Amino acid sequence: MKKIQNYVTGQWIEGKGEGTPMYDAITGEVVALSDTQGLDFAEILHYGRTKGGEVLRKMTFQERGNMLKSLALYLTKRKEGFYELSYRTGATRVDSWIDIEGGFGNLFANASLRKLFPNQSYHVEGEPIDLSRGGRFMAHHIMVPKRGVAVHINAFNFPVWGMLEKCASNWMAGVPAVVKPATNGSFLTEAVVREIIASRILPEGALQLITGSARTILDTVESQDVVTFTGSAATGRLLKSHKRIIEESVPFNMEADSLNASVLGEDAVPGTPEFDLFIKEVRNEMTVKCGQKCTAIRRIIVPQDLVEDVQIALGKALDKVTIGDPRLKEVRMGALVSKDQVTEVRNRVQELAKTASIVYGDLDKIETIGADAKKGAFLSPILLREDHPFKNLSVHETEAFGPVSTIMPYKDIEEAVTLAQMGKGSLVSSIATYDDKIAKEYVINAASHHGRILVINREMAKESTGHGSPLPNLVHGGPGRAGGGEEMGGLRGIKHYLQRTAIQGSPTTLTEITGIYQAKAKYIEADQHPFKYHWEDIQPGMSLKTHKRTLTDTDIINFSNLTWDHFYAHTDITSLDGSIFEKRTAHGYFIIAAAAGLFVYPNKGPVAANYGLEDCRFLRPLYHNDTIYVRLTCKQKVDRDVASAEHPSGIVKWFVEVFDAEDELVAVATILTMVQKKQEVFVE
Ligand code: NDP
Repeated sequence: MKKIQNYVTGQWIEGKGEGTPMYDAITGEVVALSDTQGLDFAEILHYGRTKGGEVLRKMTFQERGNMLKSLALYLTKRKEGFYELSYRTGATRVDSWIDIEGGFGNLFANASLRKLFPNQSYHVEGEPIDLSRGGRFMAHHIMVPKRGVAVHINAFNFPVWGMLEKCASNWMAGVPAVVKPATNGSFLTEAVVREIIASRILPEGALQLITGSARTILDTVESQDVVTFTGSAATGRLLKSHKRIIEESVPFNMEADSLNASVLGEDAVPGTPEFDLFIKEVRNEMTVKCGQKCTAIRRIIVPQDLVEDVQIALGKALDKVTIGDPRLKEVRMGALVSKDQVTEVRNRVQELAKTASIVYGDLDKIETIGADAKKGAFLSPILLREDHPFKNLSVHETEAFGPVSTIMPYKDIEEAVTLAQMGKGSLVSSIATYDDKIAKEYVINAASHHGRILVINREMAKESTGHGSPLPNLVHGGPGRAGGGEEMGGLRGIKHYLQRTAIQGSPTTLTEITGIYQAKAKYIEADQHPFKYHWEDIQPGMSLKTHKRTLTDTDIINFSNLTWDHFYAHTDITSLDGSIFEKRTAHGYFIIAAAAGLFVYPNKGPVAANYGLEDCRFLRPLYHNDTIYVRLTCKQKVDRDVASAEHPSGIVKWFVEVFDAEDELVAVATILTMVQKKQEVFVE
């Protein structure tokens, strides 16, 4: 029997043991053996930290992002092979799409985030902080890649997405990964990793794979490592309290059992679009991936007088779910991952059924098409009804990780919130309502217990991604029972793998460290007008002091007439009593326009366009006869790679300071210009 291999320390290695069989969820045949015996986890982690980490850490965010994009494109071209293998985990094409292309989608989405980072290997976070009266002592936060390895211990339900949603973040941060999927289904993870390694897109050591059991993997984790875990709460607790995790203060992100709730709003009675949308959502969440989704709806909270309607409508919807060989087009639901999982789910349903009643489905009977129900890991959808959810707490505590959900009644929205909170923390909740007052009441009160909340109504339905889909730019994770962790969420997911450090010093020192010109830092007087330089020759701090201009009464009147901005302070000097203005006042927009008139270099040159304006502030009114001059200083350079492939250019942010005749700062702004490059720097 074929053994799948592990990719560690730069090679594909077979375990030295007998191997653990992994079964085809549909036929029950052995697909391959998983074997990790003989692997030296200490050596594997060390290899990641040194070999992969050293290269990744030096890459810029732009380079890492482009690497992820290339990888996503490469894998997308080879997706059909993964779909074929995925059927053997019991997944339908739609289920596999979430896992496979959802995983690639995470690579794409994280790749796009490169634009939000500076063009260097570390991040500068937030705003500068002034720590002194004189402005010569300040601070900024920087975030550098951790010098460890990300160890991902994953669950069986998403062999591809589970790996990539996590790795996308750590690779963007410049940290290598060691991935340990659950033994079940790890043959699919192995197939994807084989392609990733063959592509040579990632630097060696950025990804290692342990395809099976790794009980001692945490024994040598170090303080710079990060561990993530997805799976059962029992294992999660065990690993979170591992001696080494505690001794070395290793960040441990846990995602475990989550009894996600969906609420039917009191307004969403039968006949409304929201009622139908609710039924569809619950049906999907029960049956997609056979209910083996950490975000699936486990608790269906409905107004007490609509319980009967919901039960009937859901029954009808579930009747339409054909079960069997997931390769068949007409099949809507495949199998659970293994027969052991079927036993596990059955046991949990029996636990729930001690107080709740099964109102749809049969634990022992199932009709399948194209597959032998006895050989495969099949289970009918099971709908339960718990009429006393405040008294019988099992429904808020027992996660049956399969096509199982329970209806329960509520009296008013306050009760619905309380019931949702009785899950003690979930990844996601949803509410179907077309009354935004109800939506607000639910969201504000339930949010403390949920990582994400979806409001379902007729306006968003067509474009909704659904209750169960974690999205790369949104936080995924939940408090309490859901594990207390947070992952993804765009930039925040990446920051999980970066060390945040407050840097204190002079503005000039911090300009050098951050790569961003800090107010009051020393200027670097430019030898020629800064607009005459190409992108490559511009550096933060490069500065120009302009000539002066006196603003006249006529300037202000002309500007009013030109723009039709006739605000009284510019046009009516009889109305100034009691206002903050002493004399005829120049328009703020005029100050900015006049500043541009002072700093712009008129000749055709490398500055290709004016791109926009940020952080504009007028610090005091300017009157006729006031004189101004400008300091134009390069604040920051933001690279553009693919977007500027045709006319290679980058964005230069210029800090514009407007001073009066007494050298007092009267206005500031940041202007953005597109500046041509001498040559194309980025080659895809
Ligand atoms: P487990 O908690 O048993 O396993 C999760 C991962 O942890 C697997 O990769 C497993 O590896 C690994 N693991 C288990 N024990 C150890 C250990 N001592 N040291 C290191 N790694 C370990 O969960 P399962 O995936 O088997 O699923 C069991 C139940 O968990 C489900 O029935 C469901 O209730 C729940 N679950 C919840 C999820 C959620 O997010 N809400 C997601 C998935 C599962 P190996 O497979 O090799 O043992």
